[in-house]
Amino acid sequence: MAKLTSFREIDRAAVPYRAPLERLDDFDEILTSVGDIHLQDQGARCMDCGVPFCQSVDGCPVDNLIPEWNDQVYQGKWRAALERLQQTNNFPEFTGRVCPAPCEGACVLGIIEPAVTIKNIENAIVDRGFAEGWVVARPPAARSGKTVGVVGSGPAGLAAADQLNKAGHRVTVYERADRIGGLLMYGIPNMKLDKLVVNRRVDLLRQEGVEFLTGVNIGSSKEYPNGHIVSIMAQQGVPVKHLDVAELLDQHDALLLATGATVPRDLPIPGRDLTGVHFAMDYLTRNTQSLLATGSFEGAAISARDKRVIVIGGGDTGADCIATALRQGCREMVNFELLDRPPDQRAVNNPWPEWPLIYRTEYAHVESASRFGGDPRQFALLTREFIDDGRGHLAGVKTVRVDWSSRSGKAPFSEIPGSEEFWECDLVLLSLGFLGPEHEIPERLKITCDERSNYQVAHGKFVTELPRVFAAGDCRRGQSLVVWAINEGRGAARAIDAFLAGPGGLAVSG
Ligand SMILES: Cc1cc2nc3c(=O)[nH]c(=O)nc-3n(C[C@H](O)[C@H](O)[C@H](O)COP(=O)(O)OP(=O)(O)OC[C@H]3O[C@@H](n4cnc5c(N)ncnc54)[C@H](O)[C@@H]3O)c2cc1C
Ligand code: SF4
Repeated sequence: MAKLTSFREIDRAAVPYRAPLERLDDFDEILTSVGDIHLQDQGARCMDCGVPFCQSVDGCPVDNLIPEWNDQVYQGKWRAALERLQQTNNFPEFTGRVCPAPCEGACVLGIIEPAVTIKNIENAIVDRGFAEGWVVARPPAARSGKTVGVVGSGPAGLAAADQLNKAGHRVTVYERADRIGGLLMYGIPNMKLDKLVVNRRVDLLRQEGVEFLTGVNIGSSKEYPNGHIVSIMAQQGVPVKHLDVAELLDQHDALLLATGATVPRDLPIPGRDLTGVHFAMDYLTRNTQSLLATGSFEGAAISARDKRVIVIGGGDTGADCIATALRQGCREMVNFELLDRPPDQRAVNNPWPEWPLIYRTEYAHVESASRFGGDPRQFALLTREFIDDGRGHLAGVKTVRVDWSSRSGKAPFSEIPGSEEFWECDLVLLSLGFLGPEHEIPERLKITCDERSNYQVAHGKFVTELPRVFAAGDCRRGQSLVVWAINEGRGAARAIDAFLAGPGGLAVSG
């Protein structure tokens, strides 16, 4: 145990973000760095409970050995803490920055006091590891002679590639975008996860022997229009090669589909085709591309500069759109949420150690409040129509307030009479979630998808009806979290290795 009485003596002190108005002037990471003593003190708050719920099914999805490395950090044994952390998490520098930390929701101390700052400590351990030069390429000692193709380079594909490569298999990752990382690269913006952090890890994997091919769209040999990144690249004149997935399967001993949930949910209401209404992912991708190419969002094809912006939908994607638009210099910001405002405290049907479904103020909401003087969110608001300015461009949005305590027909809410409103705006960003993976690959391979149109593949098994084809990550479980994608990538690697080398074959811990 870290220190017997620390949880009573030391208050939780999360690593702070930079001041909102200061950080809005740039695209750098919002997280500050704090000294070792701060983190050692925070690590000392861990009670090393008999049953560490932070590691349970309600806690960390990759089963991080949290109490152990909390204690090691408290004792100043940073290298030992890193070694422990690397046993369960391939990419703690990603989760340490962007994970919502279900571990903290399940922390036993959280029953009576604010939880241990587990995520901050995880991040500090791995950042220290990189700074000290302890995180280095470790290529496998021997090769198995087997090859695995991984389609998609998000955290699921990368985690699987890492595990399989460490087990000695030759791994090639096929990615249709021009850069590796999936939503770590084109999705989560630079302020939350610096792209140098993503590239640093990809470089390590490359040095360890993983092969990466970008600009390769797997599906059929014919060009198909799905996938926003493919259309963006076509508009930019960046070449994309189209490869038949059936032929790809012939080239490898096993294939992992880690293609993400890339089909965005649309809002098919009148005026949807007006100029000025965009999917969030088109917006975020183009902005990150511009940032990486020119160092600023100025060159982006969709810009919020001087515009009145409405983001429809919440979650991480909605928050990231708000934060990006603020950095571009939008004139106004409003965020529509169809759902009701969540409660401030856990509801009775949402007890500890479940993830607390409570009202949260994300970094983007704080930034918007600092710039414009109020939380941008409007809850229980239904968008009815986009209004034309007479020239095919968006002039505003018509809405109506809804009441979630009463149903109306098939809708789980009823519209409140007389609550109709008109909101002037120039740019709408649609952040309504995702409808699973695209259909080309399952149709071509004749693989079944479930009722949510994800690959119908059991968690823990990860194999499709075709014995050599596996699926993991958001394309299997639906839009989720980076830490779950890592969990799935590791699980799929274990299943593929067992298939290739027989049970117990994986040379690294699964
Ligand atoms: C804007 C946004 C912000 C988010 N913020 C957070 C956050 O803060 N914290 C968090 O934990 N989670 C966050 N998430 C969720 C998280 O990013 C995802 O759950 C995670 O990235 C899923 O990983 P994956 O590997 O399954 O898929 P993805 O990361 O989506 O990667 C799939 C990859 O496959 C490629 N691909 C798809 N089809 C093909 C094909 N046919 N041929 C070749 N390549 C293909 C895609 O181009 C993509 O690169 C966010 C998601 C979004 C959209
Ligand atoms: S990966 Fe997420 S859930 Fe696991 S310890 Fe880190 S912050 Fe917590």
